[in-house]
Order: sequence, then structure tokens, then C-alpha cells
Amino acid sequence: MELYETNQLKIYNSLSKSKEIFKPVVEGNVGMYVCGPTVYSNVHLGNVRTFMSFDLVFRYLKQLGYKVRYVRNITDAGHLENDADEGEDRIAKKARLEKIEPMEVVQRYTVDFHETLQKINNLPPSIEPTATGHIVEQIEIIKDILQKGMAYEINGSVYFDVLKYNETEHYGILSGRNIEDSIHNTRELDGQSEKKNPQDFALWKRAEEKHIMRWPSPWGEGFPGWHLECTAMSTKYLGEIFDIHGGGMDLKFPHHECEIAQSKVKNKVNPVNYWMHANMLILNGQKMAKSTGNYILPNEIFTGENNILSKAFSPSATRFFMMQAHYRSVLDFSNDALEAAEKGYIKLMEALNKLDNIEVGKVSSVNIGDWKQRCYEAMNDDFNSSVLIANLFEGVKYINLLIEKKETISAADFKEFQNTLNTFVFDVLGLKNDLEQNASEKLNGLVEMLIKMRKEARDNRDWALSDKIRDELAVLGIQLKDGKEGTTFSIN
Ligand SMILES: [Zn+2]
Repeated sequence: MELYETNQLKIYNSLSKSKEIFKPVVEGNVGMYVCGPTVYSNVHLGNVRTFMSFDLVFRYLKQLGYKVRYVRNITDAGHLENDADEGEDRIAKKARLEKIEPMEVVQRYTVDFHETLQKINNLPPSIEPTATGHIVEQIEIIKDILQKGMAYEINGSVYFDVLKYNETEHYGILSGRNIEDSIHNTRELDGQSEKKNPQDFALWKRAEEKHIMRWPSPWGEGFPGWHLECTAMSTKYLGEIFDIHGGGMDLKFPHHECEIAQSKVKNKVNPVNYWMHANMLILNGQKMAKSTGNYILPNEIFTGENNILSKAFSPSATRFFMMQAHYRSVLDFSNDALEAAEKGYIKLMEALNKLDNIEVGKVSSVNIGDWKQRCYEAMNDDFNSSVLIANLFEGVKYINLLIEKKETISAADFKEFQNTLNTFVFDVLGLKNDLEQNASEKLNGLVEMLIKMRKEARDNRDWALSDKIRDELAVLGIQLKDGKEGTTFSIN
């Protein structure tokens, strides 16, 4: 029996604004889509938090025994500078400024994105499709929406008719906005827009003469609107209705609202059963964002090269810092908070390294079954890693009491204890043990210890013992060499 059959996972659904028991479309399988990065600059720590939150979701679903197809896209075209369909394409702008091909920009920052997520120990998604690789699919959706009368073409661009859609559907169902309010609050920017209404959004934009990224379409040369790629790629790989759609809080409106509208018109269904939104990372009291300059890069943390940091912090300590907060809470970034997290991380790893020192007995005075249950309950309650970590520190307490022999544990319970700790610390939270010495470090330590013992033997004129140490090491292929600076060794 798989764990998902015995446990009740609850997910906070942004659509219903409540926690719901998770029931996938196909039993035992999960389809999950997460909006990926727009690859026009280095990924900042705020974005990394979002991707780490969904890495936790991915890991835990797998731990429960689900077969998960996790799709996360790469936006390599179509994301304009502001979300009102105005301004330049972000990637094309960067390419123009740096005088390079747009695809060089895409390649450079896709590599950076992958390297950063690997350092922080995120698992790669099952499929990572690109917007430019799905132009044909996007054009097909536009044709369909036009044919159903929910979009209009003007000067080679196609716009989704939001007001018409809202006559029969609720545009704002996810974000809780009402179109009536936005009509009263929106001022036409400068009367230059060709849209019928400012609320309408682009499905296809005509490429101006200088625009480098362009594709042929029934409406002339152009490029797809940003919201469309996620509808095209999510439904292509996960079906018209799929289980989980995730992204940062700021994508709720308009991006995800537009995705719902597109799918409702094309497939006549709500595309997603559970909408999940990760909360933001705050720096200097404000949201971390590239556009405002208020951000920190992951590499600056790993090297310590940023004025707000007192020193470098490892990817593991950084990951632990993020995991200490529930994904739906705002997380405040500071040097002090990182230092505190690092202390907690070291305490946890030191305790795990001491597990081997525990002697098992006949009976257990600690209730491992109950403790394990509490770990699962924390994660089943909308992936609450914060409560999980509190329970893991309860486990640290057990380790210390067991070593001091103030508590006892049976062999079977010890095995379960060890397995559960490993599962949650390494598989679910995705932490690495930086404190664990690798085998070669241990071997070096061992040889150094024998060299010290040999020196003591020589100081005591115990030539028999000193020769024995040297000869037996030589049999193992370890050569000692005496010099002025002391004894060194080489391993063959
Ligand atoms: Zn998206």
C-alpha cells in the first residue's frame, strides 16, 4: 500500500481560499505545472524561494508514492517589460543592449538558472518546455479562441476580449477581483492602445520592423503573448484538466487569471484543480524583485560578496533557512536570520552524525511511531515544513537523551527512527549533510594518526613498533617518507 492511500494530504487551494483534501485526476498520479523563469537575467533569491517551495511539493508527493509529472517552462519569448502588453520583449531588450543574439541571452541565463537550482539541491522537473518550442501550439489556441468569438484581430495583433468573456464567466475568479472595479480604476495610458478595452490582453503581438524575435502566423509576423505559453504547454503535457498549478504570488493576476480564461474558452473547463501560490521573500522590508533593484543573488550568499552579509553561507544552510518558513508565509531575509538558520542546520547535522553512537536495547521508552506520525501530519497539512522541522528537532532531543542513556530504544524502533530522519531531512527537505566527512578525509585522518603513533614509538626507542607501522602501511600501498618537516605519506 502506498502512503498516499493511508494519509490525508491537504492543500491550500488559492481558488477556493481553503485547505482541501488532495484527490488527483488519475489515482496514484499527479500532474503539476509551475511557471518557470523568464531567462533574461540571473535568477535572484526571491525566485529561488518559489522554485524551492515547489521542489518541496514535488519531493513530498513522490515520498507519498505518487507518480509525478512535473512540468516547468522556460519563458524565452513573449514576456514584455510590463504586464499591460506594452514595452519591449525582456529578452530582446537584453540582446539589443548587449549586442548579442536573443538565443545567446536565453542560453546564458538558462544555464545560470540550472546551475543555481542544482547548487541548492532542487530536483530537475520531468519536462522543461520552452515558449519558442511551442509557437505552433500557441497559434492553434489563438485560432480556436478567435473562432469562438472571444478574441479580435487588429493591425496584425490578436487580443482576448475580457469584457465579452466576463458576460458569461468571472474574469477575476482566482484573484478575487471584479472587472467592474478595474474599469473604474484603469486610465487609458495615452490613448495610443489599439485594444478595445484596457482589460483585454494580447494573445499575439505584431512584430515591429526592428523586433528580432518573430514567427509567421495567419495574422502576419509576430510573437505570442506571455500568458498563452503556459496554457499551451500545461495542457499539452498534462491534459485539459490537471492537478496542481503553482507559481509565485505575483503571478495570480493577471497571468494565472488569463490562463484560466484561455482554457475556459478553448476547452470549456477550468484547467486546474489546485492552484498553489508561494509567498515572497522580503529584503529591506520590500519584496525582492529584479525590476526594483532590491534583490540578492544566490551566488552572493555562497561567496559572501554582498555588503549585507557578514560572511559566506553554504547552499545547505540557505536551503534550511528557506525550509524553516511555510511556503505561504512571507519570509524576511537578513544576515541574522541566515546565521540563526546556519546554527540550526549544524545542530541537526551534528545530531544525525551521532546516530551511530546510540546503543539499542530491548524496549523503547520513546514513542517513535507517534513522532513519525507527527512528521507526516506536518507535511500533510499543506506541506508545512516549518512544523516538520520543529518535529525533527524533537528527534534531535531523542538522539541526545538516547546517547546519555536517559531513554532507551529497541532495534526495530531505532531502524524506523533512522529511516524516518533520513527520509524527511534528505529526501523531503532536500538537505545535504555538509558535516559528513567523505571516505578519503577519514582515511587521511587515520594515516595521520598512525604517523603520530609511530613518532611516539620512535621517541620511546621502540624500533620494533615503529618499523611495524611503516611496513604494514607499505603492504596496504601507503608509503611513509621521513623528512626535515616531519613524515609525509603517499597512497598508491
Ligand atoms: Zn506561467
